[in-house]
Amino acid sequence: MKKTIKDIDLSNKKVLVRVDYNVPLDDKQNITNDKRIVATLPTIKYLLEKKAAIILMSHLGRPKGKVVPEMSLKPASKKLGEHLNMNVKMAPDCIGDEVNKMAKDLKSGEILLLENLRFHPEEEKNDDNFAKKLASLGEVFVQDAFGSVHRAHASTQGVGKYIKEKAAGFLLEKEIQFIGDTLKKPNHPFLAILGGAKVSDKIDVIENLMDKADSLIIGGAMAYTFLKAKGFGVGNSLLEEDKIDTAKNLMQKALEKKIRILIPMDHIVVDKVDFKNKKVEASAKIQKTEEADIPSGFIGVDIGPMTIQRIAPVIMESKTIIWNGPMGVFEIDEFAKGTIEIAKLVAQATEKGATSVIGGGDSISAVKKAGVSNKITHISTGGGASLEYLEGKKLPGIEILPEK
Ligand code: AMP
Repeated sequence: MKKTIKDIDLSNKKVLVRVDYNVPLDDKQNITNDKRIVATLPTIKYLLEKKAAIILMSHLGRPKGKVVPEMSLKPASKKLGEHLNMNVKMAPDCIGDEVNKMAKDLKSGEILLLENLRFHPEEEKNDDNFAKKLASLGEVFVQDAFGSVHRAHASTQGVGKYIKEKAAGFLLEKEIQFIGDTLKKPNHPFLAILGGAKVSDKIDVIENLMDKADSLIIGGAMAYTFLKAKGFGVGNSLLEEDKIDTAKNLMQKALEKKIRILIPMDHIVVDKVDFKNKKVEASAKIQKTEEADIPSGFIGVDIGPMTIQRIAPVIMESKTIIWNGPMGVFEIDEFAKGTIEIAKLVAQATEKGATSVIGGGDSISAVKKAGVSNKITHISTGGGASLEYLEGKKLPGIEILPEK
């Protein structure tokens, strides 16, 4: 287990915390969703209790190494201040004389937010000098930006080389516990539900689960590549031709390892759909297939009722469930049923004692849409990071932290 902020002395120390305040902003720089800020409150409140002087750093958007005023973190400092009912100081930059002075003058119980790290190209290059300058601001480094730990950047990894005292914040600790530890020692039966748009995005996850999972449910557009590999017709559904052989190999491997792979046996299909704007016209023909084949001229957009019935008991018997990616084009209400039903089943299985871990932005919205978010054991805050964690990769922003 990695060291956490509970394992180190923080009192009256300057604590540099990497947070993920990559929040969505509207064109007037209003934060449209502040869950990433809210997610850091437990760590920040704990540091305040311990009388630390807190220096927060984050990136926002992709300014590509230049100052882009629309991507300033100022709105985040204001929002954080509102949540804590205190003033959060905003630095004009993340390095430089003025920032050094502000950090030096910061008193215990005060908070300073540095300006967007990615205004400097050195951040993403993990430049040593830049990392050293950031590191010089604090005596302790706290990693709490799970959404960014899969990147080896100056603020997520480099800085850790120059600060001796380092630890995980509470947000990161939870992610390590629920994703990392769950994967290391899952209770069986262990089920992975994978959906979403592309097989290519999830191949490594499937590969990594081959030695651990008992069952795999494959839904979403990636299912059609598996169906095609089995010789079924997929009509005009989204298909990755170049991944058909990969799908075949994965299914063969699963057979050898006695892992059950469940792919859809019926579908909701439509003759035309606007994927880009997630819209279906009133004149579109929507129908259920009674079988795994998708008729030509039609596009698969959700798993059908027979599939849901078939996978329900598999979900209910599971003791560990990880889920990444929706079962269909759930953004369109007519095609959201499969995903919502799965969300409800995962919630029910959790109530029966299973551990459920959900990652990826889309699965999270799906669970919300189903109204069962509070019944899931752990909803991961990082999309790309949780996927790489599920792939079994070592994440640089976690690796840099010492063990207890
Ligand atoms: P991902 O980011 O890989 O988890 O993919 C999520 C996206 O996959 C969502 O925007 C869904 O609309 C999309 N998706 C799921 N099922 C399908 C499908 N059958 N056809 C096209 N797109 C799909």
